Amino acid sequence: MRSLLAYSERELPWLLETIEALVRLESPSGDAVAINRCQKELEFRLSGLGGVVTRRSGGPAGDHVRAEFGSGPRQVLLLGHIDTVWPVGTLAARPFCAEGGRLHGPGVFDMKAGLAIAALALKALAEGSGALPGTIVLLVTADEETGSAASRAVIEAEALASVAVLVLEPALPGGALKTSRKGCGEFVLRVSGRAAHAGIEPETGASAVSELARQIPRIEALRDAAAGTALNVGVIRGGSRPNVVAANAEAVIDVRVASSAEAARVAGALRALEPVDARTRLAVSGGIDRPPMQRSAGAASLFAIARAVAADLGHALGEGGTGGGSDGNLTAALGVPTLDGLGAVGGGAHAADEHVLVADLPWRAALLAGLLRRILIV
Ligand SMILES: [Zn+2]
Repeated sequence: MRSLLAYSERELPWLLETIEALVRLESPSGDAVAINRCQKELEFRLSGLGGVVTRRSGGPAGDHVRAEFGSGPRQVLLLGHIDTVWPVGTLAARPFCAEGGRLHGPGVFDMKAGLAIAALALKALAEGSGALPGTIVLLVTADEETGSAASRAVIEAEALASVAVLVLEPALPGGALKTSRKGCGEFVLRVSGRAAHAGIEPETGASAVSELARQIPRIEALRDAAAGTALNVGVIRGGSRPNVVAANAEAVIDVRVASSAEAARVAGALRALEPVDARTRLAVSGGIDRPPMQRSAGAASLFAIARAVAADLGHALGEGGTGGGSDGNLTAALGVPTLDGLGAVGGGAHAADEHVLVADLPWRAALLAGLLRRILIV
């Protein structure tokens, strides 16, 4: 393990250059041209490491990149995403920079540094002695930040062909890995009322806006902090003009759950909402699209291996959970042992102070390389 660490420390300039190249090619979700430009750069670099690289079209989401290293029936999936939450132009306002031991730039933490860490781990294994004792597939998708509709089938197929999935999402503060994640989903409550003139005959109308307002406390009453269930009515829309009793209104609700039982309870309760004003109608759509990633025995044993590898590298590796979802939720739900948070150490995901700690980069790459080797050699 120490030789992997020494190698990663020597290759830090290569790693930094890779991160910078990826951050400088902005790649917001939904901008296929920008996504594909960044994927092309990644593809070029992974091919240079000896990977067999293919592109899969994600339609309007842009392309996914799949890079295969080694051979043999035992496969480990490295899972990442190229898309970021930052529109093109963010880089001009917040350029890539290395300052005070930190890297800054849109998408650097979530998760371009994680992709570069994976590339360095693969480089270390490729340049190490002997052939890889199995197959490593690095899958980098185009639409994780928007729910993975265009990549879900590809992710699930690769996961089912793998003995383990290692997700390159950012680490928890201090570098801890993630063995549980809340499931998440989005529901939309649409209210149909009856329009009327607000001054002449308001009594003939049934306000969708009023009805929606009455439903919000009912929705919020479904929260259960002790069970890990959170609901947020994050967006409301409705009505047409001040002098018209509103015919339509809607609320968009973000839901987070820690267990599948809670997922079923909340989804059932939302679909069962009844109007207070019987002249209005309610319709609920949406659902939990990323099931909860519950700490499984498989994830626990993967974590034990990771902790042993980290200890060899001189780091005490922590473990935790998070309320945010990732594509690890999808693979864990299939029963494939999944370990998440193997990317960079830093902070500020999806925020303006997004950053990566440079000092932690080499050992994260060595951790990933060591973990891959241990999983592949049984
Ligand atoms: Zn991410």
